[in-house]
Amino acid sequence: MTKAPFGTLAEPLARHTSLHIGGPAEYYLRVTSERDLVETVRVAREKELPVFILGAGTNLLVADQGIKGVVLHNDWAETSVDGTIVTASSGTPTATVAAVAARSGIIGLEWMATVPGTVGGAVHGNAGAFGKETKDDLIDAELMDLDGRVWTATNAALGFAYRTSALQGTPTIVMRARFRGQPGDRDTAVRRIKEMANERLAKQPLAQPNTGSIFRNPPGDHAGRLIEAAGLKGATEGGAMVSMKHANFIVNIGDASAEDVRTLMRRCQSEVKSRFGVDLVPEVELVGEW
Ligand SMILES: Cc1cc2nc3c(=O)[nH]c(=O)nc-3n(C[C@H](O)[C@H](O)[C@H](O)COP(=O)(O)OP(=O)(O)OC[C@H]3O[C@@H](n4cnc5c(N)ncnc54)[C@H](O)[C@@H]3O)c2cc1C
Repeated sequence: MTKAPFGTLAEPLARHTSLHIGGPAEYYLRVTSERDLVETVRVAREKELPVFILGAGTNLLVADQGIKGVVLHNDWAETSVDGTIVTASSGTPTATVAAVAARSGIIGLEWMATVPGTVGGAVHGNAGAFGKETKDDLIDAELMDLDGRVWTATNAALGFAYRTSALQGTPTIVMRARFRGQPGDRDTAVRRIKEMANERLAKQPLAQPNTGSIFRNPPGDHAGRLIEAAGLKGATEGGAMVSMKHANFIVNIGDASAEDVRTLMRRCQSEVKSRFGVDLVPEVELVGEW
């Protein structure tokens, strides 16, 4: 079968990741509706092309060689509210879920306001902040496989653990998710969101391109503390630097390549291992052609 191109060819993914790093997508399509998402998956299947779902690109280190096949950029954002339940399509920013909840007098979902990314990315990686994780508030998620089969998975069936879910390593696409909050008032929710945002701004290098925490926190400790104690705050590799503000952030201070970031990550891992005997496990996902 010939693979007639569709979407944009060789779109630089550096334009679509928060680190501003990443080589070309062989085929790139941005979708803004459920119909377009389903149709893109169908056409990719017909052309026998692999599909990579890109949310907001806030937890990714995309290889300099880019991603083969179709990169489906999910910008399909829709929400609805029923009582204290917010239903959101997978391309909805998590911050929008928090805002919609707050506007509707629902509390408990404020933490989602400060985690960048989409609902799909949050479910895939069990994103969390301020003592809460996706698994704490998610009721269920509608999923689709690359053959177009759709089903609903309960929270328990999603195999959530610290920054992981059973979806990782599978081509399953999150279509929608339902989150449950508690009855409350708008002012309380808005106040909490502001407090959380201020705390983040004080602690994280948000003015520089980054991808959030580079490593997961090892049990009972913090990756940032260990990297700092290993003397690596401010360490550089090409255009990549261990942030001076928070050592578990690698920032792009110039034209960092993915390889620069990977080399710096390896340096952090080997220093922390040799000094403290701790294995740092990446939280950021390395994707594409390494
Ligand atoms: C400044 C900053 C702060 C951050 N703080 C936090 C934090 O406090 N807590 C936290 O947990 N994370 C944090 N992160 C990381 C990031 O925000 C989360 O991992 C987020 O959930 C990623 O969502 P995304 O849409 O950007 O996913 P992407 O980075 O685009 O993709 C990540 C993975 O999810 C998959 N994916 C995306 N959408 C779908 C879908 N619809 N179906 C199936 N798979 C999908 C992708 O294929 C990929 O494997 C931070 C990042 C930044 C830049």
